[in-house]
Parts: sequence; C-alpha cells; structure tokens
Amino acid sequence: MFKALMVNKGEDKVVTQEIVELNDDQLPADGNVTVAVEYSTVNYKDGLCVNATGGLVRKFPHVPGIDFAGTVESSDDDRYKAGDKVVLTGWRVGEAWWGGYAQKARVKADWLVPLPDGLTTRQAMAVGTAGFTSMLSVMALEDQGLKPGGKPVLVTGAAGGVGSVATAILANLGYEVAAVTGRPEQTDYLKGLGATSIVAREDMATPSGKPLEAEVWAGCIDAVGGAMLTKVLTQIQYGGSVAAVGLAGGAAMEGSTVIPFLLRGVNLLGIDSVMRPYEDRVRAWQRVATDLPMDKLEDMVVPATLADLPKLGKDILKGQVKGRVVVDVNA
Ligand code: NDP
Repeated sequence: MFKALMVNKGEDKVVTQEIVELNDDQLPADGNVTVAVEYSTVNYKDGLCVNATGGLVRKFPHVPGIDFAGTVESSDDDRYKAGDKVVLTGWRVGEAWWGGYAQKARVKADWLVPLPDGLTTRQAMAVGTAGFTSMLSVMALEDQGLKPGGKPVLVTGAAGGVGSVATAILANLGYEVAAVTGRPEQTDYLKGLGATSIVAREDMATPSGKPLEAEVWAGCIDAVGGAMLTKVLTQIQYGGSVAAVGLAGGAAMEGSTVIPFLLRGVNLLGIDSVMRPYEDRVRAWQRVATDLPMDKLEDMVVPATLADLPKLGKDILKGQVKGRVVVDVNA
C-alpha cells in the first residue's frame, strides 16, 4: 500500500481532494517502469489539476503531480533497473496519466531521464518543471546569440517558480537581470537570487499603445504573457529574443502589432517543455546541474507534504506562491 493525493469530480461537479491508500495494481497498467517517488513539486499546471479546472484532467479519480524524482523500484525496460535515480517532467503525466503526488508512480520509460550527476532527487524537484523550462529558455536565448555583457535581460513573474530559477541561472551566467514582480516585499529575495534591478509589475502591465518604445532589454524570459508580453516586445533591442514560457497574466495579446518583428527583427521563441525529446531533456538537466548555484536553489525552496497540496494548489493559481515548492511525498 502507498499514499497518494486523489482528486475526484463527481456528476454534481463537486471537486474533492483526499489522501488515500492505493495498491500497486491500481497504478496505470500500461506503464513499464515503477518509481518509488521521493519528491514532487507545485507548478501552475498542478494548481489547475488539483482544482480540476482548465480542462487538463479529463478522467477522475486522478492523481496529479506533473513532475517527480525518485528511485526505480522495478522496470521492464532495459534502460532502467531497480535502484536507478530518475527524474520526470512533461508527457502529460499528472494530467492525462497519474502523476507524482503519490509514493509510487508507474510511467513509460521514454518519459524518464536519469538523475544528472551532481543533483539529489530533492534538488531536482526544487528545479522541477518550472526550473527545467527556465533552463530551456536560457538555452533558446543563447541559441539566438544572447551573451552576457549587454543590456539587462528581463524576467517576468520573477518571484514565481519559472521566474526565480530563470533569475538565478541568468545571474550566475553573468547577465544583468531585471526582475518584474508584483510583490515589492520580495525585493530582497530576488536580489539574493542575483537580480540587478527590480521592475514594478504595474510599470510593465499596460502597453503604451506605441508599436515601439526605447530599446531597453537584451532579451526576456516571460512567464506572464498577455498585456505584459505585448509591452515587452516593444522594448526589446534590435535582433533580441523573447522566450515565451507562460500565461500567468493572460493569453490575449491585445494591441500587439507585427512592428517589433519587422522593424527590430525581434524573435518570439515559444518554449514547450512537455514533449521534449530525450536528448534535449538530458542536455537541459546537465546544464541545470552546472549553471544553477545550489545555495541559490535552496533559498527558493518552500517545503511541503501531500497534506499541503489542496491549499498550495489554490495559492499558485492566485500568484501567491514564492519560488519552488518541494513536496516530500513520504513526510
Ligand atoms: P508561478 O505561479 O509560480 O509564477 C507565476 C508568477 O507570475 C507569479 O508568481 C507572479 O509573479 C506573476 N503573476 C501571477 N499572476 C499575474 C498577473 N495576473 N499579472 C502579472 N503577473 C502575474 O507559476 P510558474 O512559474 O510555475 O509558471 C508560470 C507560467 O509558466 C504558467 O503560465 C505556467 O503554466 C507556465 N509554464 C509553462 C511551461 C512550458 O513548458 N511552456 C512549463 C512551466 C510553466 P510576481 O508575484 O513576481 O509578479
């Protein structure tokens, strides 16, 4: 028997979350690797799945948790054997498949990567999907020629999961980082992660209506989308790039024009962490292990247990979670 956070939605549409005990034979039968989960996390999508909103979960009862790290218990696949440490992000685990809010998970071997050298399972989940996606974003900006030494790089939604890890990685690589936050009380936290300046959310929240503004940023990692992304695009320097990661502030980009792309050669890079091929995932995890200072990572951690998840799932949808929640599923 093992414990799991089970989300249910009845015909009356009432959503419940409770910790239940399950047997191994209740795990997804068509998985081929069983993992003793050690840690999972709380990402924005987890908030949607825990609350059964946003249409991500179609089948109930459901075990959320879009990422986890742990130890292989048994495997029918030659690539993994009992005792191997592994990490999982993406592949709609925690949405269309039972995920990491449980002491055990059964998944497909293709979705796993070996834990990179130099990271513990807890550190891997302090990074989690949000941090992994930040690393993919930094790599995408570098592929377009971003280098330290120029104008600042803007990070939006900076006190959240994606933003915190992006800030720490960029600062460690030598970039000047301007962190946009709606929580001025997180200024010391963001400066501690390496942000060189803090930009108030309200200063970036409303586009000016002009197709171009002064060139202020060398590039941007944007977790907010909506009106903020509309404004950011008008302020990117000639030839600079924006890694568009999320939509915590909305999906619509009202008032945006094609002018930044035409007259400034700005690149809008869509970042998707879900269906990444194995080689990309291994490369990004190895970069996390080398480019993210572990003391900074520790500063971001908010420890949690399975029992905390119903509340945290609500908080993250309101933008009230700071940094990275690390869920010890055995606590
Ligand atoms: P968090 O909730 O941890 O962070 C989002 C941050 O955005 C908040 O902390 C807040 O930062 C800011 N924010 C929230 N609401 C608003 C608003 N209405 N207007 C402006 N800013 C706002 O979420 P995550 O970091 O986990 O995820 C961020 C986004 O990235 C989500 O949309 C998520 O789905 C997406 N994502 C996408 C991935 C991909 O593969 N493309 C992978 C992972 C995440 P502050 O308080 O500092 O202003």
